[in-house]
Amino acid sequence: MKNIAFIGLGAMGKPMAANIAKANYCLKVFDLATIAVEEMVALGAIAATSPCEAALDCDIIFMSLPNAAIVGSVVTADNGVLAGSHPGQVIIDLSSVTPGHTKKMAALAATKGVEYLDAPVSGGVAGAIAGTLTIMIGGELAVFERCQEILQVIGKKLYHVGAVGAGDTLKLVNNMLLGINMAGVAEALTLGVKAGLDPKIMLEVIGVSSGRSYALEAKVPNFVLKGNFEPGFAIDLQYKDLEMATQTAKELGIPVMLTTLAQQVYETARASNLGRKDISAIITVLEKLADVEVRG
Ligand code: NAD
Repeated sequence: MKNIAFIGLGAMGKPMAANIAKANYCLKVFDLATIAVEEMVALGAIAATSPCEAALDCDIIFMSLPNAAIVGSVVTADNGVLAGSHPGQVIIDLSSVTPGHTKKMAALAATKGVEYLDAPVSGGVAGAIAGTLTIMIGGELAVFERCQEILQVIGKKLYHVGAVGAGDTLKLVNNMLLGINMAGVAEALTLGVKAGLDPKIMLEVIGVSSGRSYALEAKVPNFVLKGNFEPGFAIDLQYKDLEMATQTAKELGIPVMLTTLAQQVYETARASNLGRKDISAIITVLEKLADVEVRG
């Protein structure tokens, strides 16, 4: 398990691939953005010209891509991963996609004797850089065990949570909470500032009180107070995750009222051209309405 391919070198993929390169694996990389590929070549990776070429002769093929449609094309296109694959390989999808999509990809991979794990991650760009991500893995236990060593290079908290698709389901549940929490933090802090409170004092006091959350503790000091909204985790991606949750809820026939409301907050931010900004930038929409700024 020493020859690795990594496809998708974005905010998350590039630091994960960099950690693999630094751990002395033989690494081939592919991304549509040539600058990201060049940065990885500088770290010793080999540039591939297509997902097919990246997959040739590799033991494990990682993907960290924006959404299910892109994962689908990267896996199945004429120059896609499966065109260059051979029996015994493992595809590990680190992207956040639906369990239904992953099951389809796994079934297609199986026709070529290729194993498939869904392994969505949590911990943000900082966790990807530090190699401390939480990874939620679905698929055959034995396949997970074969890949455990390299997964430990990118994540420190590995959880095998069930059959293929189970990792995606858990990630979808986690990101429902993140989306709702971030919208709540933005609304509450905007009200606090409008009512005359100091944002730094709110952060300190709520941080040791019952209103605390990851959205408060990570996003407020690192993004909101600094007025720096470069991703991070883009609003477009959070919107996609909430869409996957509402779709799944429809399939299950259950209501998800807060998720739907939170999704509208991100929709409003997208309509204000903030889709590529970090999720914490939703606060700027509320700030404009309240005519205040939550900075410190
Ligand atoms: P990103 O948009 O920064 O990166 C995506 C990368 O995929 C880009 O470099 C892009 O050029 C590349 N790409 C797009 N289409 C491609 C194609 N057809 N072939 C090859 N490369 C292609 O996204 P990100 O923030 O790195 O997120 C990646 C995945 O991880 C998403 O599914 C996201 O939901 C999930 N995620 C993100 C975070 C975060 O904090 N950013 C945290 C956890 C999970």
